[in-house]
Amino acid sequence: MASSIVDIRILQREYLLAITRALTAELDLSDLLRLILQSSVELVSGKAGMIALTDPETDLLQVAAVYGIPAPVVDHFAPLLRDLPATDGQAQEAELTRRLGLVARNANMGLNQMIRLPMKEGDRVLGVIYVFMAGQYFMVEDASTLLRSFAEQAAIAVKNARLYQQINKEKQRLDAIIQQNADGVMIMDSSLCITDFNKALSRMTGIRPEDAIGKPHDELFQWHSLKTEMDLQKALANGWPMPGAAHLYVEGDFKRPESDVHQTADGRIISLGITYAPLMNENGRMTDIIANVRDLTRYREEEALQKTFISVVSHELKTPVSIIKGYAGTLQRQDANWSPEIVHESLQVIEEEADNLTDLIDSLLEVSRLQAGTFSLEISDNVMLPLLVRNSVKKFSSQTEKHTFVVDFPDNFPTVTGDERRLNQVFNNLMSNAIKYSPNGGEIKLSGAVHSDYVTVSIQDSGIGIPEHEQHRIFQKFSRLDNALSRKTEGTGLGLYLTKSIIEAHNGRIWFSTTPDTPGTTFTFSIPRDGDE
Ligand code: ADP
Repeated sequence: MASSIVDIRILQREYLLAITRALTAELDLSDLLRLILQSSVELVSGKAGMIALTDPETDLLQVAAVYGIPAPVVDHFAPLLRDLPATDGQAQEAELTRRLGLVARNANMGLNQMIRLPMKEGDRVLGVIYVFMAGQYFMVEDASTLLRSFAEQAAIAVKNARLYQQINKEKQRLDAIIQQNADGVMIMDSSLCITDFNKALSRMTGIRPEDAIGKPHDELFQWHSLKTEMDLQKALANGWPMPGAAHLYVEGDFKRPESDVHQTADGRIISLGITYAPLMNENGRMTDIIANVRDLTRYREEEALQKTFISVVSHELKTPVSIIKGYAGTLQRQDANWSPEIVHESLQVIEEEADNLTDLIDSLLEVSRLQAGTFSLEISDNVMLPLLVRNSVKKFSSQTEKHTFVVDFPDNFPTVTGDERRLNQVFNNLMSNAIKYSPNGGEIKLSGAVHSDYVTVSIQDSGIGIPEHEQHRIFQKFSRLDNALSRKTEGTGLGLYLTKSIIEAHNGRIWFSTTPDTPGTTFTFSIPRDGDE
């Protein structure tokens, strides 16, 4: 008898050692719990077991693992934690132990004995291991000490696994933050190999994350042209990062790769601004570099637009000013004796050019109001669009001999509610374009149509038309198409942008159509009609 007890003890100690080793190696919590439970059951030659863990947030017990309990009987165990009195952990545990005893006996598995092993970290109960046994279990003298030390080991392992789980969760959270970041983000290790490359950066550069990860930074980021003095390579050669770990900013043009696999791998040149931030360890050695990448292409385009704007506007301002100055200077000459007709004609030109200047300044003010968000309509009721059209035609027909105007509005054309001055501006823009872009003259037809909720007005010319590949730009600010530029017509590229803004401010829409067989363009806009009173 004595030798058999010694044998059991030796066996149990060996068991404990093996389990403890396994416990310290296992970091996955559910695998670990399964291991703990199975070992606990085997350690005391039990039949089944269950582990309940204390939820660190709610401090309440939850079943975390079961072992050796056949599927039909699991149902008996399932309600064990249901409606546990939400008092403190200790009272809960006592109640659970009581219920377990009952259930185990009722499960008809002959489980008539139960061992309860609290897993403790100091005074805190991390969870409880329950082992059920059948028949009369004879516990050797110090088996309970052994079990207790096993439970202690298990508690440490659970704690480690939980920490590991927490770190993992934190890592997943950080990964998600990097991935979901709207800016491009990439991380490199100390040898400048890319370890993280987020979706936004992939969209920006046309490089797929799987093609970027593991590659050296310099292989992917070869600048087409550099705007800053240094790129990363040069900065590193110059001793970056210095102690104090300052960021490095690199900006330049980058050529996207060309490939069918990635939507944005289109070979386009884009402008990128990259801020490199070094991560240093406690010894002052750089371990990683985090790079934040921004697509600056739109800002560069805006800059280019601003430049166009300045050159266009200064040209458009200069022309009338020099005409005015020329005529005024001529009229002023002491040595000339101008006939009243010449004086009259010259003053007329001066007046027209002054009007052109005023129109241009008005357009610029409107654009700046639109940009500042202070653009608002001065609404009046009963605006008669056919009347505005006829006035416009009267004004423009005195300026051209090559064009004929046809106005076609039905008699029942309803009034609209709107800003009369701005709608006048719309007609002026569309009609001056119709004239400008039909240099050989021809008919310009202005027609109206009535629909149930809205009216439409169309301005049709028989001019140069709009090439298909440029149609998407036509309503953009400052955009002048090749059809205008190549013919050296004057303009700022603001007319249609303002026209569209005005129509949309009236809850309307504007569009245009060109037909390959007939020359010219038709611009049409819709605007809600006033209800019938
Ligand atoms: P602008 O006439 O001052 O250049 P707009 O904004 O009015 O500016 O028009 C933008 C561009 O659209 C013009 O430069 C021209 O290329 C094109 N466009 C406008 N109207 C017509 C038209 N009726 N026919 C052909 N091209 C047009």
